[in-house]
Amino acid sequence: MIKVKNVCKSFGSLQVLKGIDLTIEESEVVVLLGSSGSGKSTLLRCLNFLEINDEGEIWIEGELVRPGTTDLNKIRSEVGMVFQHFNLFPHKSVLENIIEAPIYVKKMKKSEAKDIALDLLEKVGLKDKADEYPDMLSGGQKQRVAIARALAMSPRVMLFDEPTSALDPELVGEVLQVMKQLAGEGMTMVVVTHEMGFARGVADRILFMEEGQILEEATPKQFFENPQNERTKQFLKSIL
Ligand code: ADP
Ligand code: MG
Repeated sequence: MIKVKNVCKSFGSLQVLKGIDLTIEESEVVVLLGSSGSGKSTLLRCLNFLEINDEGEIWIEGELVRPGTTDLNKIRSEVGMVFQHFNLFPHKSVLENIIEAPIYVKKMKKSEAKDIALDLLEKVGLKDKADEYPDMLSGGQKQRVAIARALAMSPRVMLFDEPTSALDPELVGEVLQVMKQLAGEGMTMVVVTHEMGFARGVADRILFMEEGQILEEATPKQFFENPQNERTKQFLKSIL
């Protein structure tokens, strides 16, 4: 589904990604762990071309993406992204937030976009909130709307960048539940999270990043019970 070859990215003189290689298979759930500043967000942003890598190649569904020539809006509709801070439009209702991109980017008919949005709201347990404004919702509800909004583009892959980090602890579970459900339905997912229960229980594979490189790659069981890299061991000690 995604193939990344030797991807490098610098901001000025700071090299943030130092030759990332990775492959993500269809229906795989990959959790990306690593300390703050290790380059996790930058890697996710490169995967849907919010940032453009300086070197290396990113292949999406067998197609090499060339930012000068490839239609990046098309790629972004195939690779959905959910952020820590929801990024909903505050002046639009929940329903309007969800139908915006299908109508303006995919040129979908409004009636069709609405039907899809209502189905997705039902899926994330918020059908009754369609006409509310984001301000009226809890953080967990906002994040579930953000997930529905990303799904409205029928993405082939979903990227999650610390989707529960801005939430009060009691609201984390409802968002993880929706993500778990998506994983169970076979969605291909790359998830940056500090929720180790989710990583252990839902991930097929865990990648550990440090200073712009992937230092370790393992199944959750191997990763948590028998980490190989010294830095991974230190990281696990610091969080567990
Ligand atoms: P993580 O998500 O693992 O915490 P990031 O990818 O956000 O790490 O950041 C990695 C490094 O890149 C950090 O040192 C951060 O300050 C820097 N960085 C990220 N985005 C930018 C940017 N747009 N401009 C300059 N530096 C950036
Ligand atoms: Mg980050």
